[in-house]
Amino acid sequence: LALCASLSYAVNAPSARLKGVDFKDGVVRIQLTDATTWRTTSWRSANRFIVDISATDAGTRVSTLPVDASRIKAVRWTQFKPDTARVVLDLTDRFAPVVLSSPPTDLIEIRVASPARPAATVKVVAPASAERPTPSPDDSEKPVNPGPPPPVPDPATDDAATPAPGPGLSDQIEDIVVERGDDNRPQRIVVKTGRATAVTPEWRETHLVLNLPDLEPGTERIAPVNDELCLRAYSARESGHAALVIDFTRRVEYTIGPTDDGNGFVVNLDLQAPEPIVEAPPNLKALAGKVVVLDAGHGGRDTGTRGPYVIEKEVALDVVLRLQRVLTSNGAHVILTRHDDTLIPLQRRPAIAMEAHADAFVSIHCNYAPSNYRGVEIWHRRDTAESRRLAVALYQTYKAATGFYGRGVKPESRAPMGGLAVLKHNTVPCALVELGFVNNPVEGKALAQPEWRRKAVEALAGGIARFLEGRIQ
Ligand SMILES: [Zn+2]
Repeated sequence: LALCASLSYAVNAPSARLKGVDFKDGVVRIQLTDATTWRTTSWRSANRFIVDISATDAGTRVSTLPVDASRIKAVRWTQFKPDTARVVLDLTDRFAPVVLSSPPTDLIEIRVASPARPAATVKVVAPASAERPTPSPDDSEKPVNPGPPPPVPDPATDDAATPAPGPGLSDQIEDIVVERGDDNRPQRIVVKTGRATAVTPEWRETHLVLNLPDLEPGTERIAPVNDELCLRAYSARESGHAALVIDFTRRVEYTIGPTDDGNGFVVNLDLQAPEPIVEAPPNLKALAGKVVVLDAGHGGRDTGTRGPYVIEKEVALDVVLRLQRVLTSNGAHVILTRHDDTLIPLQRRPAIAMEAHADAFVSIHCNYAPSNYRGVEIWHRRDTAESRRLAVALYQTYKAATGFYGRGVKPESRAPMGGLAVLKHNTVPCALVELGFVNNPVEGKALAQPEWRRKAVEALAGGIARFLEGRIQ
């Protein structure tokens, strides 16, 4: 690992794995090892519903789960593209299942039958040797596909073949109703469409766009909400299909499910103010007498990642020097792998920690991605609980202090390019902090500010203290 570029988001490196697919109580459940995003496509003319899961490894062969239920015959999945797993639902007739989950998540649930209807229960788990099996020569000859490509849906033919809508049925949004709770805050947004509707949600800034690929845009409808968090919901025209857009003032928790009568869908909102975390602040006294090795990533000719606002090697060194001051003033003995703009060999960095029998080793880096990724991400050595606890402690305090989006705490074995050298061979409790994305406008600007760095460093010191206190499970 010479550059943090290898930590950055290589589009072609799947980071999640398809763990298994099962069908129960009318719901297809696709389980993944990590949260990721996906998109769905309804090929109604072919009675198929497609789920393309990004950054996911589905294994080398085509797998099939036969289903004996009223509206679905089988679920098939395979590696569709190097970075995309494809799951195909073979349906018995032309209808669009309802997606119950919203990305990113590690469990995709799709309802194909009403819950009241008795349905067969089948469970299939992916082969145990799911650790990236080497493709056999047969497999590598040509890309596997879940059957022949279904015909491209022709809207005209599709519509012509659709049974004539009965009274009250239509192919567009009929109504948007906002239901409020006892506190008068919006709880549910009920969208009536006349039938079960496929929903593909995505966030655009703070606007939740629910793509409705099976519906015509139709007449514009607006439901004013006027809550401090949720302003309004309205129908919109996306490329060739309808969408429901909900304007929030910040991103909120939500779930999507079918209406009780199956004639539309419901967006359940959780707009309660979050409960304050009742937890004692980290006790910095826990740092006294402890040996902490701080590793500023990169250095010298290795600049690490570069954004329009900051250069990784500079942020890393400044944060480490600031963190050294805070830890030292609380009685810790701090050792730095580099004090200035020089390049220290990768294998030397963990060696410094091991020679010192350090109580903790923390490596500081910044992330970069080709698109609009964001958030904090902390890696730990895979096989030691202590390293994971250190990472969790840093994640909790740093994420809370910065308000950055959380990408999670991850074992280094899952990092691209064969893992992270400073963790892999390190035997002391060790974690690698990706402070944020240098090219993200919000995070990059924050990383450049001295005041922000002061706050971030306090949080990191608190995380190390909390780990040393032994309070993290
Ligand atoms: Zn780096």
